[in-house]
Amino acid sequence: MEIALRVLSRKIYRAFPELDQFDDRVCKMYIKQARALHNSWRGAILVVASVFVAGIAWIIVSFFLARLLNYLQTGDRFEVAGVLFIMTGFIWFPGLIALHIRDRWLLACIQKQIRTAACGACGYSLLGLEIVMYNNKQAVKCPECGEQTILAQWGLSAADIDPTLLTKT
Ligand SMILES: [Zn+2]
Repeated sequence: MEIALRVLSRKIYRAFPELDQFDDRVCKMYIKQARALHNSWRGAILVVASVFVAGIAWIIVSFFLARLLNYLQTGDRFEVAGVLFIMTGFIWFPGLIALHIRDRWLLACIQKQIRTAACGACGYSLLGLEIVMYNNKQAVKCPECGEQTILAQWGLSAADIDPTLLTKT
């Protein structure tokens, strides 16, 4: 149910309080960026592989379900529903698993991306904070510990700190 709701709402990024300050458009660009930086192809392989594994798993499950139905010797109507459940499972079961895997992978991507924009000294999230110039370099001052995190030093881009920049390019 939880999975279905999340898929329906398509707002996976709302799982992260750090992203609450940004609107949907910015969040979507942020996810796109996170996926690109964290190997989209790996996620795609993972999803495809999960479809195969789920398909095989369903064959095994449906074998036992069919035996159980047979054992129960249920009425015609129930049997039709049972057979439909088993037959259509080849489509919806791998589909559900693939969606779930994709969600998990996206969540991991977003989390990694958020973690890259953390204070070098204390780990506080710098996402959405003001970028200032410090010794002629772009930097962000941590509101927690006061450390100046120089973006270039940590391999960060301005968009890693301020994702609204992604929508302006
Ligand atoms: Zn800090």
